[in-house]
Amino acid sequence: METQVTFNGAGVGGLALAAFISRNPQIKVVVYESKPEVSAAGEAIAIRRRSWQVLQDMGLDEGLAKRNFPKEGEGRHRSMQYRKTHQELVVRGPIYRKSDQKEDGYDFHSHLTPSLGDVTSKTGSKLQVLTSKRARDFVVEEKSAQVAVLFSDGTRETADNVVGADGVHSTTIKWFFTDFANQQTDPVKAEAYLQLVLPKWSGTYAYRCNVSADALQAEFPGHRALTNPYLWCGQDKGESWTPKWTIFVVEGLPFSASGRIALMGDSAHAMTPHQGVGGGQAIEDAHLFGRLLAHPKTTEDNLPIVPQIYQDIRLQFAQQKAERSRLNGLIYKFNHPDFQVNSKSSRGEMEALGKAVGETFGWLAKGGCDDDWMEAEERLNKLAA
Ligand SMILES: Cc1cc2nc3c(=O)[nH]c(=O)nc-3n(C[C@H](O)[C@H](O)[C@H](O)COP(=O)(O)OP(=O)(O)OC[C@H]3O[C@@H](n4cnc5c(N)ncnc54)[C@H](O)[C@@H]3O)c2cc1C
Repeated sequence: METQVTFNGAGVGGLALAAFISRNPQIKVVVYESKPEVSAAGEAIAIRRRSWQVLQDMGLDEGLAKRNFPKEGEGRHRSMQYRKTHQELVVRGPIYRKSDQKEDGYDFHSHLTPSLGDVTSKTGSKLQVLTSKRARDFVVEEKSAQVAVLFSDGTRETADNVVGADGVHSTTIKWFFTDFANQQTDPVKAEAYLQLVLPKWSGTYAYRCNVSADALQAEFPGHRALTNPYLWCGQDKGESWTPKWTIFVVEGLPFSASGRIALMGDSAHAMTPHQGVGGGQAIEDAHLFGRLLAHPKTTEDNLPIVPQIYQDIRLQFAQQKAERSRLNGLIYKFNHPDFQVNSKSSRGEMEALGKAVGETFGWLAKGGCDDDWMEAEERLNKLAA
């Protein structure tokens, strides 16, 4: 069977999804990106162990190793970052960089794009990434049950499955839940769906500035942040700080897949950055969903049901991480009800807060994407039996 999977958004989640689905040459994958080029809009993001497993599965780790990136467990202070660009350079995408390394990062998009090329040439798969294509509306065609995507440039394309990987201000989610609202006879239920179409302000802003290690060393020789990652917590910010990001979140979706349409990454569960895992969760979505869609046991018959396996395993998990991240924000800002600390708190009280912060990251060392995949494959096997 040849099917076409289309998705909107060539961010970290969309590109990873493209790489996984393209393993199956029977699937034509078309990625529509609203920007004129595939590039990152953000800043550095950290990549944790679970997401690293996915990157390994994509074969990205070999390329990173060639560029002398440390393997897991090598070097306490060498945290891996998924990082965007130096101001003085025109760089297309984010860069992986050791945090103590000033230059020579590793361009994620430059790397992923060739590896998509490798995938397609090895498998013969049909992958297209089309830029300057902003999805603005969707129509489910009654006869074929295919989904037509309407673009801002007036064009229209159809696909068997559509995935919204279009970020926190997703167009796909607007259509998705508005459509559900329109199907309701009960106005209360309809209103509940309409409440989900727009992201919500988290109540926080993010500020960021980069300080060069050389400048820090010159000003404060031997500063502890030169050798270890540090997190300073507190309630105040500098008077002159201006927000770089207004943090919006996508909260409490009851489902992220229905029939031939699904949401992934930030469009399904955009979260605050206090745990630094939003991008990782998008990559994990891509890993599980992409492998399911590319699996030989996914057939034309079960194609409308397969996205539910992805939703069941991934949505609640990511939502729990979003809540964990929200709570971390309260702890960092001394607003958490269990940790009422301030500048006069005792050392013991501060230590309890520090311990709690450390424990909130414990889940990142447990389980892994491979366990999730085994569960997903088992469910797919049962469905196909
Ligand atoms: C300050 C800050 C720090 C963060 N730190 C971390 C971190 O350390 N680690 C981590 O894992 N995560 C971090 N995150 C979160 C991370 O950036 C996001 O979770 C991640 O980028 C989501 O990926 P995505 O592919 O779902 O969406 P995006 O990266 O937002 O990509 C969406 C893509 O869709 C395109 N698009 C939008 N609308 C349309 C449309 N209608 N049609 C076609 N294309 C469209 C956009 O142009 C974009 O390319 C941080 C976020 C912030 C704000």
